[in-house]
Amino acid sequence: MKPEVQSMKNYFIGLDLGGTNIRAAAVTQEGEILHRVKIPTEVPLGRERVIANILKIIDTIRQETKGLKLSAIGMGIPGIIFFDKGIIAQSPNFPDWIDFNLKERLEKELNIPFFIDNDANLAAIGEGWIGGGKGFDNFCMLTLGTGIGGGIILNKKIWRGEYGMAGELGHITVYPDGYPCNCGNRGCLEQYASATGIVRMAKEELGVRSSELGEKNITADMVYQLAKNGDRYSLEIFQKMGRILGIGIADIVNILNIEVFILGGGVAEAWDYFIEYTREEIRRRTYRVTGERVKVIKAELGDDAGIFGAAYMAMKNRDSYHFRC
Ligand SMILES: [Zn+2]
Repeated sequence: MKPEVQSMKNYFIGLDLGGTNIRAAAVTQEGEILHRVKIPTEVPLGRERVIANILKIIDTIRQETKGLKLSAIGMGIPGIIFFDKGIIAQSPNFPDWIDFNLKERLEKELNIPFFIDNDANLAAIGEGWIGGGKGFDNFCMLTLGTGIGGGIILNKKIWRGEYGMAGELGHITVYPDGYPCNCGNRGCLEQYASATGIVRMAKEELGVRSSELGEKNITADMVYQLAKNGDRYSLEIFQKMGRILGIGIADIVNILNIEVFILGGGVAEAWDYFIEYTREEIRRRTYRVTGERVKVIKAELGDDAGIFGAAYMAMKNRDSYHFRC
């Protein structure tokens, strides 16, 4: 056996397939990023173009990591993903990719184990590996972005549910007759504790009061900046958001007796303006024994949580790959 082949170091690729960009990184078994690439997804140019772009980004990374062995690839995609079969059942970013077997397609092209999973699940896996969830056997991750992504780790493993739909924490009902959600329900947590929810609440606020939010195109960041400057109405929006988030978390505590909740995503940046209200609401709505032990902490990996999670998921599943039929 050639000695250089024997000493060849393994690495994994973690991909994040977003509606705007595909981001990818070469990641070692120790969680070190060797190289990273970002290219446009080009969704309007059709599925074949997106697949060509995925292959292109993988090829770019392989060119940059010559001398190392690519062992497996993992990719996160928003939507309903059947992990076992590698099928995208439905994704908000790719409306015409219904029941599409991306795993089969890409493994045929690449001849390398390729795994896909829901992006929020992978963010939880990433945080559990080398982020805020490291060392905890059980935790929930909530990504407070444009929407709310959720991932549940039980006994150090992601809980995917019967067919990958577990952890839809953004769609817990917090108001019985609340604002309609695009999942079909009303009053979902996502409608109040995401960036979209912050913007909507800020706009509603304008209807009844006047404040510095009188600008036309309100963004969640704008509300955050105003809160920083002490604007009363903006602070009230984050207080309301914090309380509602606490109601959602308290429900999860009551069901699963989970003690650690990790918050990521852009809205979590406003931490100082909502967290006390969240904690207060959790204590108010749970048994003392469980509620007072709950820790709500910040995510540590930012936008990279999904990439690390994808790489780790590929690493953990690669070994079983050869035995699949
Ligand atoms: Zn919903």
